[in-house]
Amino acid sequence: MAKKDYYEILGVSKGASAAEIKKAYRKKAIEFHPDKNPDDKGAEAKFKEAAEAYEVLSDADKKARYDQFGHQAFENGGGGFGGGGMNMDDIFSQFGDIFGGGFGGGFSGFGGGGGQRRVKGSNLRIRVKLTLEEIANGVEKKIKVKRKVQAPGTTYKTCSTCNGSGQVTRITNTILGRMQTSAPCNVCGGAGQTIDKKPADADAQGLKVAEETVSIKIPAGVVDGMQLKVSGKGNDAPGNGFSGDLLVAIEEEDHDTLQREGDNLHYDLYVSYPDAVLGTSKEIDTVTGKVRIKVEAGVQSGKILRLRGKGIPSINGYGKGDLLVHVNVWTPKTLNKQQKEFFESMRDDEHFSPKPESSDKSFFEKVKDMFS
Ligand SMILES: [Zn+2]
Repeated sequence: MAKKDYYEILGVSKGASAAEIKKAYRKKAIEFHPDKNPDDKGAEAKFKEAAEAYEVLSDADKKARYDQFGHQAFENGGGGFGGGGMNMDDIFSQFGDIFGGGFGGGFSGFGGGGGQRRVKGSNLRIRVKLTLEEIANGVEKKIKVKRKVQAPGTTYKTCSTCNGSGQVTRITNTILGRMQTSAPCNVCGGAGQTIDKKPADADAQGLKVAEETVSIKIPAGVVDGMQLKVSGKGNDAPGNGFSGDLLVAIEEEDHDTLQREGDNLHYDLYVSYPDAVLGTSKEIDTVTGKVRIKVEAGVQSGKILRLRGKGIPSINGYGKGDLLVHVNVWTPKTLNKQQKEFFESMRDDEHFSPKPESSDKSFFEKVKDMFS
């Protein structure tokens, strides 16, 4: 099934500004909000669809990728962004931004019959930059996070609107007669309690911002753009609610000499003409330190030396990638008179005339080998 265009979903043009996109999303989110449309699966789907569109179009990076590649931009790997993978927590974490932090106690998730609901705090998002070495070996990062915590001294009382049930019932007249419907109480957000007393430095929900050092265990093999979740390290919820999550987006730093391709790494090795002719050994970088490798006499430019298991561990735990060392023979650009005479004299020498053997595979055959 073809996915709908994100711009179409929000009803904006491709040239829409960030402010226009935000405004359009806000309108859709209010229109299709599940609290306003209880038990309406169609509205819930539209609500999720709009949230997914906004997730992409509100992020300059993702928007640029979407503009260039369409939905395909998020289909191949790339971790947990976009692509229909959003859950309600993710959607509500956008609301801090969209609704200025105050959406009543409504950061709560849906569904589930009547009665009191435990309110969930909003999620926080951070980015963590990792070196290739950190990605290869796994790392524990200690990050300072500013999160909303319950302000000491805040007390709660039973919500007078719903009498603590978290639900309000409404009588509506329909063509079938009078109908009674129940919906979450919008005074307490369904929690059944409201703030009684709070200290002066707390916000309307009895929360205040505090800095906390959070330890984040990052497994080996993560990929740029991937998102990790640290449960309970987002913002606290008021009262008896539970805390939101900390969503950690992985950013991979470029390496000076190694290029990553999936779990494999590539390294360009330059050898001098005499080294290629006579053979040598060379020190190269790996993600676990330097290693010395042997370069055989008569090595050809374009040869690929494969160091098995010297790549990145698979995030799924299935083995490790390889390090592929690409040999480049450096041809001198200038020669002195004596050197020039030497090479002139070798022009017709049979040792210098190319005689490719089957082991000196063409470039395309080597590429085929790499993926087999
Ligand atoms: Zn209430």
